Amino acid sequence: MTKPQGVVVLGATGSIGINTLDVLSRYPERYQVIALTGHQQWQRLLQQAIQFRPAYVVVGDAVAAAQLREHLALAALNCEVLYGSQALEWVVSLPEVDVVMAAIVGAAGLPSALAAARAGKRILLANKESLVVAGHLFMQTVHAHGAVLLPVDSEHNAIFQSLPANYAGNPDLAGIRKIILTASGGPFRTLSVDALQTVTAEDACRHPNWVMGRKISVDSASLMNKGLEVIEAHWLFAAKPEQIEVVVHPQSVIHSMVQYRDGSVLAQLGSPDMRTPIACALAWPERIEAGVESLDFYQLSALTFEAPDRQRFPCLDLAFEVLHSGGDAPAVLNAANEVAVAAFLQGDLRFVDIPVVITETLSRLDLSASSSLDGLLAKDAEARALARQRLAIC
Ligand code: NAD
Ligand code: MG
Repeated sequence: MTKPQGVVVLGATGSIGINTLDVLSRYPERYQVIALTGHQQWQRLLQQAIQFRPAYVVVGDAVAAAQLREHLALAALNCEVLYGSQALEWVVSLPEVDVVMAAIVGAAGLPSALAAARAGKRILLANKESLVVAGHLFMQTVHAHGAVLLPVDSEHNAIFQSLPANYAGNPDLAGIRKIILTASGGPFRTLSVDALQTVTAEDACRHPNWVMGRKISVDSASLMNKGLEVIEAHWLFAAKPEQIEVVVHPQSVIHSMVQYRDGSVLAQLGSPDMRTPIACALAWPERIEAGVESLDFYQLSALTFEAPDRQRFPCLDLAFEVLHSGGDAPAVLNAANEVAVAAFLQGDLRFVDIPVVITETLSRLDLSASSSLDGLLAKDAEARALARQRLAIC
């Protein structure tokens, strides 16, 4: 029997983490969970540890670690409890780890995903913010250390599946005209400018097709998620901004497409269930059972397409603009967006002011490129401080 692959799930307690464990639970002989991490929800991590028996669990702070330790001892589990960001970097680098699911939300996920790249692991990347903040550094690290990077974001996973198997990071050489990212349009797709003034966090988190964490739900509602995905696609597939197009497809059945020079369009279709891209990335090039129903074509209503409304949802163009400007602009956009979205989720900022905070923050910072992770993280901190100041006057 072949040895099971060692897996770390970063962000195990979140939406992607839970879906990943659902897929892993179907293959106990094939995958061995080495470490699970969660930030504050230690109770959920405890349940996951009881089920998957990892050697390590990592939480955010000493208080959560002490509580978890106590309960693991009561459950007679031999599992070491660590805390803090250094511990995240340590667990992904262990020699017994083959696969790292990077599913922490936000720029907080960057250092551990980068550590997995430095350790040459197979990285299943859900944390798109890593590529938005540090695309150049991240891709360089992946290549320098022989890591394998597989996209879990459903659009990028669809594109990955629609590219030639030997795709070598050059759209022109592969005969590609365009990479087409589909977008559901989110819960506010049909709302008027007036109605957008008063939408709440609960409205934003009620996504028509996907069940996701709260931050990405707000990003989907503002189309910033699609903007971040444009930047993600640029780095993953070495596509120029003008080679990436966004098409609103409210049914979320086509998860994205590649348009070739000869007029062919290759697409990946499926039910909107993240277990499909997770299972695809986990087992690639094999295909494994993910617990996902097949599409029933007789039940599908029409598949429709429309252009994104760039006036009502200015975040999409903000993302294209920072991609064009380069340097640290995408990192600043991401940091300001994280601050603005957190404030909106707490009821302290109007939805329509999210792009306002981002634009102001971008206008007040030096956007020239930082050459190191420390430089990028310092710029990220500076952008957050400025965005918080801006919140006070919104
Ligand atoms: P979520 O909020 O449900 O879960 C986030 C996870 O990160 C949790 O386990 C949480 O404990 C952990 N976490 C939060 N802050 C942390 C910190 N400072 N340090 C360490 N851990 C921390 O988020 P999600 O929806 O699962 O999204 C995770 C990532 O995957 C995001 O980058 C998101 O953009 C991406 N993604 C999600 C989906 C989806 O369907 N949910 C789809 C595509 C991409
Ligand atoms: Mg996506």
